[in-house]
Amino acid sequence: MKQSSVPVQTAAPAEPVIRMPKGLLLLDGKLSGVSPSARRIDVLNPATGERITTIPACSAADVDHAVMAAQRCFESTAWQSMRPLDRGRLLERLALLLEENAEQFAQLESLDSGKLLSVTRMIDIPFAIEALRYFAGWSSKIAGEYIALSPLVQDGAMYRAYTERKPIGVVGGITPWNFPLGQAIQKLAPAIACGCTVVLKPSEETSLTTLLLGELIIETGFPAGAVNIVTGYGHDAGAALVEHPVVRKISFTGSTATGQHIWMAAAPTMKRVTLELGGKSPTIILADADLTRAIPGAAAAIFANSGQICTAGSRLLIESAVYDEVIAGVAEIARTLKLGSGMDPATEVGPLISSRQRERVAGLVRSGLDQGAVALAGGDIAGEAGWFYQPTVLGNVTTDMTVMREEIFGPVVCAMRIDDSSELVNLANDTPYGLAASIWTRDLERAHLLADRIDVGTVWLNTHNVLDLAVPFGGRKLSGVGREFGSEAIHAYTEPKAICMRLDTGAMAGY
Ligand code: NAD
Repeated sequence: MKQSSVPVQTAAPAEPVIRMPKGLLLLDGKLSGVSPSARRIDVLNPATGERITTIPACSAADVDHAVMAAQRCFESTAWQSMRPLDRGRLLERLALLLEENAEQFAQLESLDSGKLLSVTRMIDIPFAIEALRYFAGWSSKIAGEYIALSPLVQDGAMYRAYTERKPIGVVGGITPWNFPLGQAIQKLAPAIACGCTVVLKPSEETSLTTLLLGELIIETGFPAGAVNIVTGYGHDAGAALVEHPVVRKISFTGSTATGQHIWMAAAPTMKRVTLELGGKSPTIILADADLTRAIPGAAAAIFANSGQICTAGSRLLIESAVYDEVIAGVAEIARTLKLGSGMDPATEVGPLISSRQRERVAGLVRSGLDQGAVALAGGDIAGEAGWFYQPTVLGNVTTDMTVMREEIFGPVVCAMRIDDSSELVNLANDTPYGLAASIWTRDLERAHLLADRIDVGTVWLNTHNVLDLAVPFGGRKLSGVGREFGSEAIHAYTEPKAICMRLDTGAMAGY
């Protein structure tokens, strides 16, 4: 494939303060290595392709060690009797330590994942800190219900029931590479708030900040086994976690194909699952939209994080009257975005995570072009080193093309003209996914009526990719099962237990 002439920045920041993790797992409250003969995984810098370090490829035996430590902690009297407020204090202390080390985490995340340093500083690490604080608050607010019963047998007694929300048990948290630390905390914080214990398995592509988090977890003073961290490949370490009979729940974020596999593998042990999976989200621009906001909004919806966001606005549906102006504007933005190392402050779009991912993106775009799509901007790989792909706008697409159906997970948007507005809902829903959508318009009535009929977990009006810890997040159809954030997250890590009682009214005699 030819290399493009799009300029790629490769400079590093002026004063790097990267603190590398010791590269050890967190097992049973201690930083541990695996046997020296164990396989190692190369960690590569996506901006250069150079090796940064290696991490352990854990075996099923390492995973078993972590799970049994989590189970011992879960069953211990100390954990079972810990006050909810004190579980919250553990999360608050971890938040404080993360805040003190925020710059080191931001730089390490950028180096390991290729994300922009400005983004890891302003979004990834602050999100992780806030998630710890948000769920610390929840730990003391988990409540059941008190229920009056209507028994069929009327024996003069009173019947009452109450429910408690009980922690599910040991949770396996399996995370992807696009928001590595944020996703790890997104699993850990609600699980601990609810009284579960955790084994985290980060993506083999981006384990460094989760490993460094392990060092802070020890400093925080979590009880041994409350949080464990193992690294390794999905098909062995990940699979061992999913199949382990002691693990009661898997909270997974990643691709739909892996999510389907995990759901089936979790069935024999009847594990609970939360599955946050892929998407093919529409950005819908109506003719009356404020284009000064909608055009940059649509570009940011797909090009942020190099398109590696599950809710990326990868299908751009535009009403006919403004189609030409919108695609000209989005294509112009695509052409002028500066590609480069995430560590360079001038960079606007970083690399993709791996050469494999770039090959996948390039292959999908090629298939679209072969099927008749037209590249209005980009359409090729970029740079001499690292895994860059040009921000790309494809026009002349049809709904049956692979580029319109499959999640690309790169900076590639397919733009489509909407001639018949009555078709808008059908087109928006014409995808196996159901994660998110955005609608850009000044007509509030139309916005709400459309939002009502689009089959997704989240609809944004005149904005895109606004996630808030208080708002439930998750997908419909092939985009997943269950929700994270807000009170939904508490339900995801607890189950109701009903206590039913008979109160003998005879006992009232004499009162
Ligand atoms: P992936 O499915 O390849 O891997 C995700 C994690 O699963 C990794 O830790 C991997 O090691 C592990 N894994 C792989 N095979 C496994 C198996 N058989 N058993 C257990 N674990 C296994 O996903 P990815 O490529 O790392 O991430 C990109 C995907 O994640 C995209 O599809 C994106 O849409 C999705 N995603 C979804 C959300 C959401 O909230 N809906 C958020 C971010 C990313």
